[in-house]
This record gives sequence, structure tokens and C-alpha cells, in this order.
Amino acid sequence: MANYDYDYFVIGGGSGGVRSARIAAGHGAKVALAEKQYLGGTCVNVGCVPKKIFSYAAQFSHEFEDAPGYGWNVGESKHDWQTLVKNKDAEITRLNGIYKNLLENSGVQILNGHAKLVDTHTIEVDGKTYTADKILIAVGGKANTPNHPGAELAVTSDHIFYLENFPKEILIIGGGYIAVEFASIFKGLGADVTLFYRGDLFLRGFDDILRHGVKQEMEKQGINLVFNNPAVTSIEKQDDRLAVQLSNDSAMTTDCVFYAIGRSPLTDNLGLDAAGIETDENGLIKIDKDFKTNVDNIYAVGDVSNKIQLTPVALAEGHALADNLFNKDHKKVSYENIATAVFTIPPMATCGLTEDQALEKYSSLRIYESSFRSMKFIMAGRDEKTIMKLIVDDASDVVVGVHMMGKDTPEMMQAISTVMLMNGKKSDFDRTIGIHPTSAEEFVTMRSVTRTVSA
Ligand code: FAD
Ligand code: NDP
Repeated sequence: MANYDYDYFVIGGGSGGVRSARIAAGHGAKVALAEKQYLGGTCVNVGCVPKKIFSYAAQFSHEFEDAPGYGWNVGESKHDWQTLVKNKDAEITRLNGIYKNLLENSGVQILNGHAKLVDTHTIEVDGKTYTADKILIAVGGKANTPNHPGAELAVTSDHIFYLENFPKEILIIGGGYIAVEFASIFKGLGADVTLFYRGDLFLRGFDDILRHGVKQEMEKQGINLVFNNPAVTSIEKQDDRLAVQLSNDSAMTTDCVFYAIGRSPLTDNLGLDAAGIETDENGLIKIDKDFKTNVDNIYAVGDVSNKIQLTPVALAEGHALADNLFNKDHKKVSYENIATAVFTIPPMATCGLTEDQALEKYSSLRIYESSFRSMKFIMAGRDEKTIMKLIVDDASDVVVGVHMMGKDTPEMMQAISTVMLMNGKKSDFDRTIGIHPTSAEEFVTMRSVTRTVSA
């Protein structure tokens, strides 16, 4: 066997790369990891973690509103954006340190710098070359930006966590995870929020009950939702504000324009051509079920590959790959029944198929739906609905889709996803004894079929 500097060279120190590097090193491999910006990658620095911190911050305003119903007089409340950003930064610095220690303690050599492939076994990091037997590409993605005049005045999720001043008015463009999560965050923190989505209803791909449910709750909170919006044609600075021109010849002013219109793989200057690595029509690296690219010794996991773009997926892929390569395991990652949550206020989460997807697969479905005001909100006088939906394949009684919106939904859906991986049946839900009083108990007490639908 050729003599390489490393057994395993990981490009990218985000969710997938860090996990894979340290597991491989734990199996005895000689491992290097190159990171050009920040350890922990998108999730830790400009993704899941700061987003959840901001979401917690936003939820306080709802709690303050609800408190009087329980006898609390909370007085005047005022939010300080700079304190939130400063404390968030401190927490992220702490997490960066934890990632560094995890890698170093498992024996991974960290190389700070931009890595690119020179050939199938050679990587260059800021002018210095290294060779490796196996290479993992885990470089993640970057936020898409528009190309109209003044686009540079808009921000993306990379900047939103570092805004110097809190925008009193914000225009968010997009209708996916990031757009709706930040609509809730900025509304909760006290901004006037307008959300532009190009289609009829946002959150395409989620079950209609959730798409409508989130729309209704956002409208009740006073978020200005504009569907089938006119396109933004230009942005100009106007004193401290931004003047936004729209394609229908109207205009608006705001403090901040935030584009959340999807992400693309971060493969610039990565040397994919030099190594002969194939990508799909979206530039995502094509991998097989063993995370292998078309080049035998080069692998890819996480957001840069053509699979699902979620942190736990990148972690699972990176982990399985390291076990397979350096511990002779044969692990696969199943992409079915992966639960996912959208951290709107209220949050929503889902596992399995939407009703439309289930109808493509099964000839007859039983649908169980429930919509109620939770005890907490009745006392508080808050008109917020919790909604639940179970989709059951009538022939087998297996629950093939679970959808929920309401407080603590993401926490519940994690447990539901285990039931679904085990092909849980409606009869299993029915024989489960609930925990009272909770919202979750509704999942095991929905007895009456709301509808039956057939393909
Ligand atoms: P990343 O975490 O992006 O890591 C890639 C790393 O590679 C980066 O550190 C980058 O600097 C480095 N890199 C890139 N090119 C090079 C190079 N040439 N040389 C050296 N280093 C390089 N997912 C969830 O599951 N839950 C959430 O709540 C959630 N919230 C999100 C919120 C936001 C605002 C965003 C943007 C994403 C969110 N995600 C969430 C998605 C999640 O962050 C990603 O799926 C996850 O980070 C992907 O991990 P990764 O390892 O593939 O890439
Ligand atoms: P998404 O892919 O979720 O959504 C992109 C949105 O932008 C869609 O509504 C899309 O519309 C719209 N869009 C795309 N192009 C344009 C355009 N040119 N003009 C106007 N609108 C456009 O991407 P996000 O950026 O919200 O998030 C990226 C990914 O990060 C997510 O898909 C998810 O995998 C991950 N993530 C996960 C989170 C979580 O787990 N809670 C939170 C945040 C991110 P259309 O539907 O019509 O195509």
C-alpha cells in the first residue's frame, strides 16, 4: 500500500466532518481535518444553535403576554438585542472550544485553512500539500443570494446573527425553514415582520394541515404574510433605511431585507474537477449508499451531498462512514421516517409521509385529526391552536405519517419517530396509556376517524 501522510483526510469541520474525523481517530486511524472558518460549521455558528437561542429569546414575549392570566404582573418588558448577540457569541465560542477539544483529544490533527483537492490522494491547505488514503468532503453549503441591483444591501442567515442594530421592520423573502423560523423570531423580539413567499402557501413539502396551521397562527400574531408576492427588483439605501422596489411598480421601505431562499453546496475552489468528482444538476456531490463519490477513495456527507440537509443526518452519515472504513462495519443510514421540526412559534414537526405522499403509496388511508386549545392557553386567554394528524395505511393499520403543530412539538416528534421506525400501528397508539394532563396524550386518544381517503 502506498505510504500516505494520513489514513483519512476530512475537509470541513462542521457537523458531519467533526463526527467522522473523531470516530475514525477513535478506531485508530491517522486523521487530519481542515477547517477554513469555524469549528462546528453551519449548525454551531450560523445555524441550528444560534437560531434556537434566538427562538428562546423570542418566546419570552409570548410568556409575558400569557402571564397575567396566571396572576403575574410582569410590568413593562424591553428587549436588548446587543445583550442577546453578545451572550449568544459567548456560548458559541464555548462550543467552538468543545469541538476543538473533542478533535484534539481523539488525536485528530486540525489544519486551519482552505483545503482543495489536487488529485485523488493529495490535498492542498493554504499552499501546503498532504496525502491521504481516504478523503471525506464535508464542506456543507452556503446561503443563496439574489442578483438584482442592491442585493448586497440584503442579508442572509450568515449575517442575521450578527446585526449591529435590531431592525424594527424586516422584510423576509422565502417560504422554507429559515424564512418562517425567523419571521417568528423577529416578531417575538418586537419587530414588524413582512414575509414574501413566491407561491400560494409557504412550507412546500410539509403536510397541508401544518402549512395552514402555521399561516393561521402567524397571521393571528400580526405577521404580514404576502403570498404570490411581487419580486424585489432593487434595493437602495435611504438614510438609515432601505428602499425596496417591487416588480408591480410599487415600493416599500424597511430596516432590513433578509433573503432565505435556499442553500447551495460550498464547492468553490475545492478541486472537484482535479479529482474527477461528479456533481448533480444542483452542484451537489453524488454519493452512493456507502457515501462514496464516483471516485473510489473519496466520500461525501452532509449538506454538500445530494441527500437530506439536516445536522443529525450529517452526523449519522459521518459516523457510519468512519465505522465502516476503520472498524469494518457495514452501517447504512436510513432516510425514511426522519423526523424534522420547524422552530416557528408555535413550532411544528413531522415524521413520515404527508397525506399526498401517502396517497401515492397506499390505496386507502384513515386520517385522524385533532385541533384544540391547550389548557395553558385557555387560562392565558391566548387563541392558539394545537393541531395533530395521524395518517394510517388502512390495509396494514401502520401509521405512515404524523404531523403536529403546538408547544413542545419537536420534543414529542423525536419519540414518535422511534415508533414509526418500528412500523408502529394505530392499534399500538390506541393501547398506549397517556400521560395526563398533556397535549401529547391526544396522540394516543384519537379514536374517531376524521376521514378516509382512497387513491
Ligand atoms: P457544515 O456544518 O456547513 O460544515 C461545513 C464546514 O466546512 C464549515 O465549517 C466550512 O467552513 C468548512 N469548509 C467549507 N469549505 C471548506 C474548504 N474548502 N476547506 C476547509 N473547510 C471548508 N439543521 C437541523 O437539523 N436543525 C436545525 O434547527 C437547523 N437550523 C438551521 C438554521 C440555519 C439558519 C441554517 C443555515 C441551517 C440549519 N440547519 C439545521 C441545517 C444544518 O446547519 C446543516 O444541515 C448542517 O450544518 C450540515 O452539516 P455539514 O457538516 O454538512 O456542513
Ligand atoms: P428551503 O429549501 O427550506 O426553502 C427555500 C425557500 O426559498 C422556499 O420557500 C423556496 O420556494 C424559496 N425560494 C427559492 N428560490 C427562490 C427565489 N429565487 N426567489 C424567491 N424565493 C425562492 O431553504 P432555507 O434557506 O429555508 O433552508 C435551507 C435548508 O437548511 C433547509 O432546507 C433545511 O434542510 C435546513 N434547515 C433546517 C432547519 C431545521 O431543521 N429546523 C432550520 C433551517 C434550515 P419554493 O418552495 O417555491 O421552491
